[in-house]
Amino acid sequence: MTTLPEIQQIEKKIEALGSTGRAEVLAYSEHEDLRFPIYKVSFGSQDPQAPVLGFVGGVHGLERIGAQVCVALMNSLAELAQWDVTLQQTLQNIRIFFIPTVNPVGIQRKTRCNPNGVDLMRNAPVEADNPQFLLGGHRFSNKLPWYRGKLGAPMQLEAQALVDTVQKEIAQSPLAITLDLHSGFGLQDRLWFPYAKTVKPYPDLHLCYALKELLDRTYPHHFYRVEPQAQNYTTHGDLWDYLYDNHSGRTQGQIYVPLCLEMGSWLWVKKNPWQIFSAEGPFNPLKGHRHKRTLRRHNTLMEFLIRALSSPQAWVGNEPHKVQQLEQKAKELWYGER
Ligand SMILES: [Zn+2]
Repeated sequence: MTTLPEIQQIEKKIEALGSTGRAEVLAYSEHEDLRFPIYKVSFGSQDPQAPVLGFVGGVHGLERIGAQVCVALMNSLAELAQWDVTLQQTLQNIRIFFIPTVNPVGIQRKTRCNPNGVDLMRNAPVEADNPQFLLGGHRFSNKLPWYRGKLGAPMQLEAQALVDTVQKEIAQSPLAITLDLHSGFGLQDRLWFPYAKTVKPYPDLHLCYALKELLDRTYPHHFYRVEPQAQNYTTHGDLWDYLYDNHSGRTQGQIYVPLCLEMGSWLWVKKNPWQIFSAEGPFNPLKGHRHKRTLRRHNTLMEFLIRALSSPQAWVGNEPHKVQQLEQKAKELWYGER
């Protein structure tokens, strides 16, 4: 049976997990004779009220490097969970999960969309202000990229599996962060926070500013550009907008920060222009050394997020004057307000 190297790696790791981790199949994504499991692998506390950190990859099949980085992070964490006493102690209080291949058929077929030609990141019932024509999501045809799916239809199986799982993970958690790994935009690695649907600031802007400040202070030489996603383009149907809005509508005082890592693939193309002619070229580092470098490039980010989740006093606060101050600074930085 056809399988994917990424899924083989996950399965190999699952076999070696022992009592350090737990694996689950969220759904099977199918197309003609292809049938792939969508795995979730979790580590740490099983308390629904524990803080949660999630890593997600492979939503856009063509951006294969996102799935591969997610698997690499999962493999490292699984190893550390076996021997690192500090991490073992941390995991008693928090939970970390990985869903590296949300759209495995897309990865296999080198398509952005799922087997039905739907762009999963345009598939949630969320309407944007002024999205860009086509790229922002449309309902014309699944033959065109960025297709949202039919109006009023249920979400696609892969999108629904992701949404259900993340909702369950964060439902009772006081603090949750997710990082969805993508590639294909710009020269720099970007960390995007909501919204994708509107250029207007989102309600927890102050938190993202505080997290960015903590990252800047802790790793002043980091290479991420932290910004609201809509500063680049607005889109309909973003799954993280949907999850964030649903969560904040249902809960009070619980914090959820959905982040996207958009790896700057234009740099790989700039250094190796010929790869633009290959299907995966514009979205993935094809040269061996560059590929390896990318796989290890985000280890520090994972470590930072684990620590930020475990020590929220360093960046999460609710004193009104402090929140206001952070919000003001965020508006100056990202929205040009003074
Ligand atoms: Zn993407």
